[in-house]
Amino acid sequence: MRIDPVKCTGCGQCRFFCSMRGGIMSFHRDPSSPGRVYTVINEDECVECGVCLRSGVCPTDALYQPELHWPRILRKNFSDPLKIHPETRIPGRGTEEMKTNEVTGRFRRGFYGIALELGRPGVGTRFRDVDRVSRAMASLGVTFEINNPVTRLMVDQSNGLINTEILDEKVLSAIVEFIIPAHLLEAVLKEVQCVAMEIDTVFSGDIIARVEPDGQIPTVEALERLEIPVYINGKCNVGLGRPSAPEV
Ligand code: SF4
Ligand code: SF4
Repeated sequence: MRIDPVKCTGCGQCRFFCSMRGGIMSFHRDPSSPGRVYTVINEDECVECGVCLRSGVCPTDALYQPELHWPRILRKNFSDPLKIHPETRIPGRGTEEMKTNEVTGRFRRGFYGIALELGRPGVGTRFRDVDRVSRAMASLGVTFEINNPVTRLMVDQSNGLINTEILDEKVLSAIVEFIIPAHLLEAVLKEVQCVAMEIDTVFSGDIIARVEPDGQIPTVEALERLEIPVYINGKCNVGLGRPSAPEV
C-alpha cells in the first residue's frame, strides 16, 4: 500500500485502521512547504492487507494500491481476507479443512491434526520464520496438508523447505498445517516449544483429534504432562450437511 504524498494531509486517521497497528506509518515534513506533513508507509513492514484503503477513512483519497508482483503478491494473498489463494481457491488464510472434520473425515483415529499459526494478531510474520517452523516439524516426520498455501510454497516437502525467493516476504498470518500419528504428539509439542523461542512473532497452535467413543479426548493427557493448558472447544458447522465422515 502507498500514500500519495501530494494528496496526503498527514491527518493520521489511517493509522487507526492498520493491521500492523499503525506503527509502520510515520509522519514526514514536506521540505518544499514548511509546516505541511504527510504520512509514509514502511513498505517492507506493510502486509498488503488492504484494510486501510477499504476502510474509506482517508478524506483525500491519498491511499492507493500499486500493482503487486511476485513475490510481493504473496503478502496480499495471505493477508487480505477478500483475496482467494490461487493454489487452494480458499480466501483468508487459504485453508479451512480442520474445522470440517465431521464431514471430511481428514483425521482418523490414532492421528491428530495440528495447525501452527504465526503472526496473528497485529504482528505479522516473515516466511523466514514460517520456514524455521516447517523445517523443524518436517524433521519429526509430519505429513503436511497439501490443501494449504504454505505447503504449496515448499520446494521440498520432506524437509519442509520453503522457496528461498519468498523468505523476506511479510504476511499477516500463515498456518503450517500437518497430520501426525498419535505417538508423535509429545515430540512435536516439545519441538514447537523450542522453535517458538527462536522466532520473533506471535504463535498459536490448534490440535484436532476425534473424541473417543467413551467421550475422552485423547490429546489431553499428553498436553497436561507437558504442563500446556488445555482449552477444549467444540464446534458444530451448521449448514454443512449431515456428517459424512466414515467412523474410523
Ligand atoms: S495495507 Fe494493511 S498493513 Fe499495509 S498500511 Fe494498509 S492496513 Fe497497514
Ligand atoms: S487518512 Fe489519508 S490524508 Fe490522513 S494520513 Fe492517512 S493517507 Fe494521509
